[in-house]
Parts: sequence; structure tokens; C-alpha cells
Amino acid sequence: MKIPFNKPYLTGKETSYIEQAVRSGKISGDGIFTKKCHEFFEQRYGFRKVLLTNSCTDALEMAAILLDIKDGDEVIVPSYTFVSTANAFVLRGANIVFADSNDQNPNIDADSIEPLITSKTKAIVVVHYAGIACDMDKIKAIAEKHGLYVIEDAAQSIDSYYEGKVLGSIGDLATFSFHETKNVISGEGGMLAINNKSFAERAEIIREKGTNRSAFFRGEIDKYGWVDIGSSFLPPDIVAAFLYAQLENIENIQNRRKEIWQRYYTGLKELEENCLIKLPQIPHYATNNAHMFYILCGENERDDLIQHLKKKEILAVFHYLSLHKSRFYHDKHDGRVLPNADSYSENLLRLPFFYELEENDQHMIIREIKDFYS
Ligand SMILES: *Cc1c(COP(=O)(O)O)cnc(C)c1O
Repeated sequence: MKIPFNKPYLTGKETSYIEQAVRSGKISGDGIFTKKCHEFFEQRYGFRKVLLTNSCTDALEMAAILLDIKDGDEVIVPSYTFVSTANAFVLRGANIVFADSNDQNPNIDADSIEPLITSKTKAIVVVHYAGIACDMDKIKAIAEKHGLYVIEDAAQSIDSYYEGKVLGSIGDLATFSFHETKNVISGEGGMLAINNKSFAERAEIIREKGTNRSAFFRGEIDKYGWVDIGSSFLPPDIVAAFLYAQLENIENIQNRRKEIWQRYYTGLKELEENCLIKLPQIPHYATNNAHMFYILCGENERDDLIQHLKKKEILAVFHYLSLHKSRFYHDKHDGRVLPNADSYSENLLRLPFFYELEENDQHMIIREIKDFYS
């Protein structure tokens, strides 16, 4: 394929930082680069407390443990999302109550949440799709009224804001991903942001196999032992070294990605004006972190467009399949129809998007899409 969908970008410092981590003699978790990454997030974005994990999936699993999710608890999750958003809670015995997307963008329809709440509901998990914020004031108000936790799956939303508040700082807990398909990467990688203070101490314990080793290393206690359930959620410092090289470059990465996003938007605007496709809409309360560029095709057009682009060696890809219809969950779902989630499943197409995407190639992609619709 001449133009892939994604290509991991390296800033150039990754390998020298990894070498530094290796030479430091401490390559397991919570070494110098992990500390640097934690400080970066706390200083640049004002997060109260963050913990690197091996993935966003790990961070979601930690969230489910922290919330004490038990058999029969209900968790409200959008159907249009990655499996881990739901699976992390299913692992703890939760029943997932799937919510629909709204019709402006694939984010959870905030107005659809309240009727889904029962006496068993424990939490609302939101996903800021494509790095565009959900309607957080509305969602927080519903959660407060019913005494529910809010978890932000912020896997795609690094460096993006809701009404001036950084995404990942609004819910009780938030989870980030540094998988190679995200804006800032470490191969596999993730982070839990702990905004609700009451979870801070236990989060460290759960991440360290249920032990209070973190407090021991800080010299707060003189022995450490098994105090809770947990697992090994912390990444080796080698991975944090890679990530730190990326974080140091975040400004540059984000500027470049925003240029690419804007070029698609300007280039494809005409097709939207002619009602042939729809382009992403950014609500007034949200910023755009240029995580991805998607278009919404008309009914039954997407596969032909994918094929058309494939012939020109351009790889464009669809995204999630509604989880309420998945092989694993369809017979556990309560049967409600979720038309917007299904519509995004069927019509949303993601265009090649990566730091090194050349301007010429991008113009070619735009031309080919216009050619398809002419
Ligand atoms: C990428 C992604 C995940 C999973 O991230 P990993 O780091 O691969 O575990 C979860 N949720 C959403 C919305 C994602 O985009």
C-alpha cells in the first residue's frame, strides 16, 4: 500500500532515552523516566495524580477494581467504542447497559443516559471519540444527581479540552492510551488519571500487585506486603523512556497533526456543501486534538469508496462495530435499538492520518475521494 492508514512517528530521541534507562540499571517500573512522564502530565495539564500503565485497557481494568464493581452492577457505556471500554467492567462482573451515540458525533448521547439508570447503576463511562469532548456538564450533573461515578475513556484525547478543562481531568478517573495508533505513543502504553482523591492511595496498591510497595519505596512505611487485590499494571521504564521522548515533542506533533486535519477539512468541504458526505463537527465546548480525520458516507457507499481508494493504494478504514451487536454481547444486551451507533458503524470512514503524511499524498487522497463522488 503506497499510503498506509497509520505510521508511527519517531521524534529521534526514543532510542537514546531507552539506552539511558538501560544504563541507569533500573529498567523495571517506576524508574526515572516514569517519574518524568508523571511530572510532565501533572505540570503541563495540572492533573492531580497520574500513573503510567501498560495500556489504556490496563487503566480501565484498574478503574473497574477501584470502583469495586461486583456481579450484577450496571455500568453505562456507549456502544460505539473499543471493546476494552466495556470489557474491563465485564471482567469484574458488571452488566453493561449500552447507550447510543448522538447524531452530531459518535460520542455518547448525554440526553439518552438518565432513562438507563437503575438502582444497580454504578458508573457512566464516556469516550471522547476522535479527541472531541463529550457533553461533560450534562453528564456530570446526571451523575451527581444519581450518585454515580464518571469514568473518561480518554484514550484518544490527549491535549484536548472541554470548556478550558483538559480531557481526563473531569471524571473521577480517566484512562489514556499510548498505543502506536494514538497521537503520542510508546508501542503499547497507557495511563490512569486519578481526579477523585479518595482513589489515590488504592490506585498505587492495585497497580503494584495489591501491595503497598509504592509507599515503601517512598520511605513512608518500613515493610511492604499484600494489602488488597491488584495486578502488575506498571510499564517498564524502557517504555516510559520512549514515551518521554514523545511527550517532549508534543507541541510539534500536535501542530503538525492539526495542519493535516485542516487540509482534509478544507479539501473535502465542497463535498459536504454538496451533501455528498458529512465532515466532523466540533461542538462549541470542545477543542480538536487532531487524533483522526473521519468522513460520514451516505448509506451503502463506504465499501465502494474503500475499494476505490484501495485501487489507488490508499488505505482508508472503518472503525467500531456496535458492541451491543457483537458476538460476545448481543444476547446479553437488553434489545434496545441504538440507531446512531449503528449508523456510525456502517458509514464512518477514517482517512490515512499520521505525522509524516506528505502534502502531495494528502491532495491525492482528497482528489480520489472527489473523483469517487463525481
Ligand atoms: C485505543 C483505545 C483503547 C485501548 O487502548 P490500549 O492502550 O490499546 O489498551 C480504549 N479505548 C479507546 C476509545 C481507544 O481508542
